[in-house]
Amino acid sequence: MIKFFTGTMRSGKSYELIQEIKKATGKALIIKPSLDTRDGDHVRSRATADTYPANLIDDTDLHDIWWVLSSLKGVDYLFIDEVQFFSKEFIEALIWHCKSLNIQVVASGLIKDFRDVKFPASEYLQLEADYVRFMHGDCDNCGKPSSDHNIRVDANGRMVTEGESIGIEGEFKYLTVCRQCKKHFERPQFDQFPL
Ligand SMILES: [Zn+2]
Repeated sequence: MIKFFTGTMRSGKSYELIQEIKKATGKALIIKPSLDTRDGDHVRSRATADTYPANLIDDTDLHDIWWVLSSLKGVDYLFIDEVQFFSKEFIEALIWHCKSLNIQVVASGLIKDFRDVKFPASEYLQLEADYVRFMHGDCDNCGKPSSDHNIRVDANGRMVTEGESIGIEGEFKYLTVCRQCKKHFERPQFDQFPL
């Protein structure tokens, strides 16, 4: 059984993952990408501030890959947070192993980046999972509980549509917005044109 909680930022994905961790009866392995260091080595729900310790994994490091695959033996559940930051190949290999070892997988992660392009690992899970729940956060602009897009804005609040898919907050700001409000950000801003 593979479950996948996906959607936009702050839509309660990690909250759902934590609920699944709490319900689990058996041995569990919890992993998240070492690329995402915002919460350290914990799975954190922004909704409830609940946290769970997780193993930080670098899927480009052979030692980490070996450690995860060998840790799957004797485990009943594999929980994966922020799955979008893992490569599709790594997730594919994990799913293959979990299926053959009869391990339940519960993953959570963003579906699309700020360019509206699906993250490969998330797209793979969307097709492969037995249960997929698409979640919406509150729109950062109008507050309606129907955010559909994650957008990247620069220091002047202008929407940025080019650049690397993965850019951790700091240099840019990320907003989650509904379809209607995204149009507002797409409109060319007046001061972008020299007078
Ligand atoms: Zn809105």
